[in-house]
Amino acid sequence: QAKARGRGRFEFFDVEMRMRMQRRLRMEQDLREAVHSGQLWAAYQPVVDLRTGEMVAVEALLRWTHPKHGAISPAEFIPLAEESELINILGKFILQDTARELAAQRTEHGLGLSLKVNLSVRQLDDPHLIPAVRDVLSTTGLPPEALTLEVTESALMRDASAAAEVLTALRSLGVLLAIDDFGTGYSSLAQLRRLTLDTLKIDRSFITGIADSRDAAAIVASIIAMAHAVGLTVVAEGVETADELELLRELGCDQAQGYHLGRPVSAREMFG
Ligand code: C2E
Ligand code: MG
Ligand code: MG
Ligand code: MG
Repeated sequence: QAKARGRGRFEFFDVEMRMRMQRRLRMEQDLREAVHSGQLWAAYQPVVDLRTGEMVAVEALLRWTHPKHGAISPAEFIPLAEESELINILGKFILQDTARELAAQRTEHGLGLSLKVNLSVRQLDDPHLIPAVRDVLSTTGLPPEALTLEVTESALMRDASAAAEVLTALRSLGVLLAIDDFGTGYSSLAQLRRLTLDTLKIDRSFITGIADSRDAAAIVASIIAMAHAVGLTVVAEGVETADELELLRELGCDQAQGYHLGRPVSAREMFG
């Protein structure tokens, strides 16, 4: 009886797995089409300077509006794209699109806004990455120092030595580099120093609740101190309350981002 039950369960698992695989295949095909049919677009979220309270940058976040399924989260489709060269196509699209938008906003409205774009660690393996970034800067006229490329800590640490070379090449173009979701990987100070970064973004999971917990606040304070000690600008992500914002200001955090300051919105909503 136990054997029969086990067998039944196994078949059920098999069916479920096959369905999941089919869904992924379909989604990958849909994503390939999405690139060419205007279903992908960039949302912009404000990044605020904590000393002046001014918006100094925007982070570009990729959005996919599927014709049948509606909004699909990047947490779902980015990992899928990362399994193939699709990520390079998406990465190039969002960089080109948002650099053009920011360059236009800077010249037309005299805005000194900077742009932050996420880079998948897989894109660091793409031999076309460096020329593509150089090309985007020269065709859009966006100053390199107005562009920060963000790579997540966990992805970076998986292949730190290989990444270091590409990051150095990117930096020699004059763009800035950020380590994203800091605290979720396991990087050492030595590794961080070797990577010649400009900005450290503290992961949202460390920010949530800092206003109610001395220990949580102490951890964030020590991350800020450590980052400042090696010359990094610190950004807090996921700021959802006025109390969190005030505390981060007191702790000397440089910049903040989060729903309390502004949600990611379309270019039209952000720039009018
Ligand atoms: P991320 O780069 O760490 O971006 C921050 C994420 O947190 C965004 O989710 C943003 O909408 C969300 N967020 C911002 N403020 C708050 C807040 O106060 N509370 C909460 N709960 N969430 C907040 P999103 O847009 O769903 O993106 C998720 C992740 O997908 C990004 O994390 C990034 O790793 C990746 N991603 C998004 N766009 C791109 C892209 O163009 N290229 C690559 N390679 N990855 C991307
Ligand atoms: Mg990011
Ligand atoms: Mg992040
Ligand atoms: Mg994050």
